[in-house]
Amino acid sequence: MGASSFCAGLIYYFCSISNFQNILESPIEFLKGVGPQRGELLRKELEISTFEDLLYHYPYRYADRSQVTRIGFIDPKAEFVQIVGTLINVIEEGDGRKKRLVATLYDDTGRIELLWFQRAQWMKKSLKEHERYIVYGKLNYFNGIVNIAHPEIELLNADTSIPGRQPVYPTTEKLRAKGVTNRSFAKLTQALFEKIKAHDIPEILPDDVRNNFRLCGRFQALRWIHFPDTEEHEQVARIRLKWEELFLSQLKIGRLRLQHTAQAGWHFEKVGELFNTFFSEHLPFALTNAQKRVLKEIRQDTGTGKQMNRLLQGDVGSGKTIVALMSMLLALDNGFQACIMAPTEILAQQHFFGISDLLQKMGIQVELLTGNVKGKQRKEILSQLADGTLRIVVGTHALLEENVQFQNLGLAVIDEQHRFGVGQRARLWQKNTMPPHILVMTATPIPRTLAMTMYGDLDVSVIDELPPGRQPIKTIFARDNQRGRVMEFVRNEVNKGRQAYIVYPLIEESEKMDYESLMAGYEQVKMWFNENKYRIAMVHGRQEAGERERNMQRFVKGEANVLVATTVIEVGVNVPNASVMLIESAERFGLSQMHQLRGRVGRGAEQSYCILLAGSKVSEESYKRLQIMASTTDGFKIAEEDLAMRGPGDMYGTRQSGVLKFKLADIVQDSGILEQTRTAAMQVLTNDPKLLLPQHYALRELLAQQGKQSHWGKIS
Ligand code: ADP
Ligand code: MG
Repeated sequence: MGASSFCAGLIYYFCSISNFQNILESPIEFLKGVGPQRGELLRKELEISTFEDLLYHYPYRYADRSQVTRIGFIDPKAEFVQIVGTLINVIEEGDGRKKRLVATLYDDTGRIELLWFQRAQWMKKSLKEHERYIVYGKLNYFNGIVNIAHPEIELLNADTSIPGRQPVYPTTEKLRAKGVTNRSFAKLTQALFEKIKAHDIPEILPDDVRNNFRLCGRFQALRWIHFPDTEEHEQVARIRLKWEELFLSQLKIGRLRLQHTAQAGWHFEKVGELFNTFFSEHLPFALTNAQKRVLKEIRQDTGTGKQMNRLLQGDVGSGKTIVALMSMLLALDNGFQACIMAPTEILAQQHFFGISDLLQKMGIQVELLTGNVKGKQRKEILSQLADGTLRIVVGTHALLEENVQFQNLGLAVIDEQHRFGVGQRARLWQKNTMPPHILVMTATPIPRTLAMTMYGDLDVSVIDELPPGRQPIKTIFARDNQRGRVMEFVRNEVNKGRQAYIVYPLIEESEKMDYESLMAGYEQVKMWFNENKYRIAMVHGRQEAGERERNMQRFVKGEANVLVATTVIEVGVNVPNASVMLIESAERFGLSQMHQLRGRVGRGAEQSYCILLAGSKVSEESYKRLQIMASTTDGFKIAEEDLAMRGPGDMYGTRQSGVLKFKLADIVQDSGILEQTRTAAMQVLTNDPKLLLPQHYALRELLAQQGKQSHWGKIS
């Protein structure tokens, strides 16, 4: 007995005596057909470690394997085919990496080639010539001859039955290589359903909800999602499970919201001297009506004795910073400290310079705290925060660290929220004996469905008005071969005394190549712009922070005419004199990203331009994005389009935060279901906020269990 199976035996022993409360929590290796080795593999490859994980490992499509086609009658238009025949001529061809296995399957009507490009040797050993096999796979045509590559293949013997409708599961190369095929998944799941009973999967949806929305039972749905007898069953199951996912998330958000509204908060009693002095003497411009309205809302929230949790949405350039600043003064006026947290070093620095500039005249000290502030300086800031001599601090994630203690933090502003996860927001709560007021600011307008799932727990303010005197930015689409004219245009603008951004893509996956093209681009720009006459600065993520900062500052202060950059400048940077945003390889940028970049110009009174420079090969989808950009500057419209084109997972870095991790539901396509679940969740919570009624028992249990597993729980 090997060491691992010995251990497994031991675990088995303990498991059987401890007798799992719930069979679904059993380790996966105890399922018939799994065992320690496969168990380990499933865990590593797909994070399937319990019966439950397997239960929720849904098929992504179904194969109709009820029909066996005779080889001579294969429909050339069919995508998949199932055949039965005798295997001959199993031959390895080629060598080294090009090695492949070729075999022939024949019946009395014809023959077809089967191919394996991977694991040729292993397959060769496991296949037996002159035996009959049942084969299923996707048809390929190569030079007019049909074949099947990597088919599912199974020896036909007396007890082989024709599979019928078969689930097709997501899997990995490694699992397949170790013989855990799609069929294995189906068999394991079948074995699972032989073990569990309906009562192991209690219904969580209250009866009236289920009746109202005509949803099938939970056990039934799980059974049918794996093994639907008909397409209709599959649909019914799918809807029910999507409904459940969205409903649970809406309940969680709803409960958070209830907690927030009940959460006691610091009472800002008055609008005091600092606020008023700033307003009457130092405000560099008149506030827009939208800014005034939002300030009023913030004033109201903070004056109730409840904690404020407010999301401030406003398109790029709508002037959120000044709102944040004045809210911070409000906190100071009431004897509290305030902080503002930005997602990047550069942004934090910019806020720091902007804010200290405005507040200097009033003698208010502001400090910057980021990962790069070290040693004595850091110590000093930390101690001033702790004893309360420092009232305003600007920073990055560094502010969240445990050793950053405030004497009396009353307001935390989070800029560009989509870079921060829900869990991070929660950490700010711990910074005072009672949580500070939270103002979350986002520059990317958020489509309604996304806002409902991501920020459903927050109150929302919108700045829907740009400061006066702005001219709409002109967006121009150009091809690589027009580069000469484009550069001439940019030079012209610079000659008028304006500044220009030239932005290159930098994508993690192709970082090296992107970096090289950035450098090549920089050299080119230096050639287009005579170095004796123009000054070019460059910023990118590989620079040491100090250098990046110096270059950025050269541009901010107007010492550099052109800034060559990667998307490190994406959010927040404010240089009103810049009037050109040239985006290189624009076809590779996402919509929201381009919108953000475009928002860097058009901040002064001058006519500004955004030039989208695209390569000669642009996919249809990229072209559509560029067209959308050229056709509108409305951030909300762009965000909706972006969400529809990309799906929520890729947007706003939400993938890491886990808020939008749905297995089946898609908040764009299933927005109808989302609306239903939101209403239903609100109804449930209105009648029974703590879910104490008997019909909500299973629901409460499940949420408690899920809360333990995720950061959702930590927020409360
Ligand atoms: P964002 O909402 O994108 O963070 P900012 O706060 O950076 O926008 O403001 C963009 C620019 O508009 C800044 O230069 C700021 O000084 C200016 N600004 C903000 N509010 C007004 C206003 N009411 N009138 C004129 N200019 C304003
Ligand atoms: Mg901003």
